[in-house]
Amino acid sequence: MFLSVISRSIRRVASQNPANLARPFSTTSDPKESNNDEPIDMENPFEKEKIKCILCQHNIEPSYKNVQLLSQFQSAYTGRIYGRHITGLCKSKQEKVEKEIAKAQSVGFMGFVTKDVKYIKDPKLFDPERPIRSHKY
Ligand SMILES: [Zn+2]
Repeated sequence: MFLSVISRSIRRVASQNPANLARPFSTTSDPKESNNDEPIDMENPFEKEKIKCILCQHNIEPSYKNVQLLSQFQSAYTGRIYGRHITGLCKSKQEKVEKEIAKAQSVGFMGFVTKDVKYIKDPKLFDPERPIRSHKY
């Protein structure tokens, strides 16, 4: 039904002007303008902004030799490693930090229940009093 309507209109256009037969659906003579309605390549305007943790932002790989960095994830009072809800690290970096702290402790670079006094006044990466995510208990 629809095809027959189209073919009839083509025939009508062709009978009026035989030059139009080559491009029966084009209204303009410029072939570039006839592509105006085609989709164009563009960035997705609705794409979510990717949130990166502080170590990923600066592309820092935690190492047991970098005790000053690791100390920033350790409590000054108990020497415990802060959880991910406080540090705001992504899961892989948090696991890496915990692994490297354990490594540093086992070779004697860091204390188990103490934080080196040298690093007490280091800038705070996060506030333990105000966790980034609320804890489940
Ligand atoms: Zn990360």
